Amino acid sequence: MNSTIPSLVVTDDLVVSLAYKLTVDNEVVDASEEGEPLEFLQGHGEIIPGLEKQLYGLAVGDAKQINVDAAEAYGPIDPDALMDIPREQFPTEIPLQIGTVLQVKDSDNEVHNARISKVDAHSIQLDFNHPLAGKDLSFAVTVVDLRQATAEELEHGHSHSEDYDEDDYELEEEESL
Ligand SMILES: [Zn+2]
Repeated sequence: MNSTIPSLVVTDDLVVSLAYKLTVDNEVVDASEEGEPLEFLQGHGEIIPGLEKQLYGLAVGDAKQINVDAAEAYGPIDPDALMDIPREQFPTEIPLQIGTVLQVKDSDNEVHNARISKVDAHSIQLDFNHPLAGKDLSFAVTVVDLRQATAEELEHGHSHSEDYDEDDYELEEEESL
């Protein structure tokens, strides 16, 4: 079922394999591993919108530098996503170090990632913003492969890559509702 067709270009409903390097503030913060490109179904919001919309028309082998403003990536920093916790309510086993990532359960038992953003004599500040919120992103991408999506992928609205575990994925989807 190898359906790679060299004349394809990126368009909705194709599965795109993309090698990428993400640079933020002149620092590489993420990159795909050699031979392990990111795979996703184009046009279904699997990747950030500002990146997805600049891929249309690229062919296999095409490389492109793509800049995405914060607004079209992880959004602006939300000042309401900062929370001060009195020191005496903070678990003692957690090191009070700026940047430490914690998982916090809310009253609905939903787990959220937070980072310690400030420590003072009385309280600990947790930041629930995405680590890349407020950041302009710079991607260096290369289209590695394009293929037709399977009927099942189209029905689900996402790609099924080789190491894909449907059970894990559907669980994540439920949690995000
Ligand atoms: Zn699926």
